[in-house]
Amino acid sequence: MTPSPRFIVVGAGPAGLSLALQLAEGGADVALIEASERFNRQFRGEALMPSGQQALAQMGLLPLLGELPQRALEGWSVWLEQRRLFVVAEPMGSLQPCTLVPQEALLEALLERARRCPSLQWRPGQAVRRLLRQGSRISGIELSNGERLEAELVIGCDGRGSLLRHQAGIELRCSGEPLELLWFELPGPVPKDCVWGFQTLVAGGQIGSACLNASGDLQLAWLLKPGAKRDELSSEEWAQRLANLAPPPLAEVLIERGTSLSAPVRFKVQVGMAERWQQPGLLLLGDAAHPMSPIRAQGINLALRDSVVAARALLSGGDMDTASITIEQQRRPEVRRLQKLQEAEARQGHLIGSNSPLRYGLTLTRGLMGPIAKRVWKARQGPLRNGQPEQLPRPRLEP
Ligand SMILES: Cc1cc2nc3c(=O)[nH]c(=O)nc-3n(C[C@H](O)[C@H](O)[C@H](O)COP(=O)(O)OP(=O)(O)OC[C@H]3O[C@@H](n4cnc5c(N)ncnc54)[C@H](O)[C@@H]3O)c2cc1C
Repeated sequence: MTPSPRFIVVGAGPAGLSLALQLAEGGADVALIEASERFNRQFRGEALMPSGQQALAQMGLLPLLGELPQRALEGWSVWLEQRRLFVVAEPMGSLQPCTLVPQEALLEALLERARRCPSLQWRPGQAVRRLLRQGSRISGIELSNGERLEAELVIGCDGRGSLLRHQAGIELRCSGEPLELLWFELPGPVPKDCVWGFQTLVAGGQIGSACLNASGDLQLAWLLKPGAKRDELSSEEWAQRLANLAPPPLAEVLIERGTSLSAPVRFKVQVGMAERWQQPGLLLLGDAAHPMSPIRAQGINLALRDSVVAARALLSGGDMDTASITIEQQRRPEVRRLQKLQEAEARQGHLIGSNSPLRYGLTLTRGLMGPIAKRVWKARQGPLRNGQPEQLPRPRLEP
């Protein structure tokens, strides 16, 4: 019979895997349960902000990050009716630029390192189907094959649709309407000068984005209007729609290579905050506690930052439930602040995207309004890039 671990971590995304690694390296017995067999989920985000890089540095993982395939993002730009409103180059006053790292490569590397720890049980391809209780305390989990596993603390890192959050009866307080978007990929190589950095594209009442990913493929997004049905279009038709948002060099590539555009993948993202992140025997982290919008690439970074704070508190040897309360208290303010900033970005985008007189006015006066819009945009970016640095514990001093 498998011995009971001290911790069960459910979900091997950025939150769960980085937490399991730190707990196992700290000598704790951890079972890491992951529903999928592999990490090759399509369109996982891959932008690591300086805030996420700071978290990896705190875990002592910068050398590991340095060995992974990656690309520094050149900058950010906003385009209205195919004309540039403003452009901002990285690293925008931070020490590090926003860096694109394929998430599959990052997770594989974290796993390889975690599996060197004898105290880690790695259980891929096994979904948790229910929480176990002893009285009012959560005492373990039941897997989809019926196997039961008990632990001192179950940590739910099972993403934005968290089964553990539902099973624990913890309500998700939603912020605004769900965001629905379609994601496309145009396999590289594409001419380097067709897209620079991350481009937000607003035209004809529609919003999209374009960016070259770490592997040189072109990633494109199309924001759906709330409740909109998905139009059944061919790749070329979607390429034409996206080209209608894009400035000329990108539009030409989309039209020339339209048949190679992937079928759209639809995402529905409800931003929110769990009313509480813990119950006796249970702690929620990452998107399970606070599902993030993809706007300005926050979720992976916050998941990594949650795990640094959680690992430090859980390894300190005190009572697990008290530690879980402290973790929530420590992490909630930063997450809340960044969700509000994401909401402000979304509101501004929606206002410009849906108001054609405003859009055309801005387009005509962009020589004057571009620098003002840039200043307003930049004023929000500090915390979205760096988080609140004082929120993370100080790095441990190596002996
Ligand atoms: C389109 C899109 C693009 C994005 N781009 C970025 C970006 O560039 N940068 C950024 O920082 N953020 C980005 N995000 C947000 C980011 O992907 C998430 O916030 C982040 O992945 C959250 O990490 P997590 O570990 O909490 O959860 P997840 O990454 O969702 O991982 C949860 C894991 O739990 C597993 N799981 C779920 N249920 C069970 C179960 N019952 N039993 C066992 N395992 C289970 C899943 O298989 C999964 O591996 C993007 C989001 C979207 C939708």
